[in-house]
Amino acid sequence: MKIIVAGSGTIRAIANAERRTQNDRTPMPLNVSQHPLVADKLAILRDRRTEPKKFRELVRELTWLLGYEATADLATRPFPIETPLGPMTAACLEPRVGLIPILRAGLGMVDGMLELLPTAEVWHLGLYRDERTLKPVEYYNKLPDAATVQVCLVLDTMLATGGSAVATVDILKKWGAARIKQVSLIAAPEGVATLSRAHPDVDIHVAALDSHLNELGYIVPGLGDAGDRQFGTFAGPSSEPGGGSNDETAEVVRRLQRHLDDPAS
Ligand code: URA
Repeated sequence: MKIIVAGSGTIRAIANAERRTQNDRTPMPLNVSQHPLVADKLAILRDRRTEPKKFRELVRELTWLLGYEATADLATRPFPIETPLGPMTAACLEPRVGLIPILRAGLGMVDGMLELLPTAEVWHLGLYRDERTLKPVEYYNKLPDAATVQVCLVLDTMLATGGSAVATVDILKKWGAARIKQVSLIAAPEGVATLSRAHPDVDIHVAALDSHLNELGYIVPGLGDAGDRQFGTFAGPSSEPGGGSNDETAEVVRRLQRHLDDPAS
């Protein structure tokens, strides 16, 4: 991975540069946190020995840290107040912000983000990843008729194939969302490429950009199934990484990887 540090602290990364052609080294709107606290918490989160209670705490704390970075460029407006020593013009947040957690694992990111943005609205969109086709399936949509916020933060722990992210941003744009950012804990290069190709205007904020997707559609080295690890649902093969997957799943991953190697394919 090649990381370019651009102006005003923005880190632009080229995902998996080694696997991409020389001509296609277009910077993606990907911000990989370089904060040592993020690295430290992520290490514990990834560790297979970490129990659901600790896992949930870490998801919340990491969301807090990533949220701090993802909101660094939000506008403020003058806000006159009086301190005990006299009047002053302070600043307050200008845009109304909407949080769109992607069910189920994204739910664990809501509390951390609400601690940072207590007035944010939370809009629920139910998309699940079909374990065989890896395609997002919408089963719940509670967005109002028109956009009521200026900035949308899409919360999804894992940016894997990018399918759910693209589907969510499609829906939010139709809804009238002006500015959208994706906040995820871990991304795969395949997911970053898919989202940035479909929606190059969407900033992506992650704690880490990992190596690749495996043939079951899981991020490697990743952390396993973020939903199961948060909610303790380890029973049965269907909830294990790749449960219910088949050749179709592997073909979807191969197609994404071919596209990453050769975007013209
Ligand atoms: N969803 C997860 O929970 N983990 C992955 O690695 C990919 C998608």
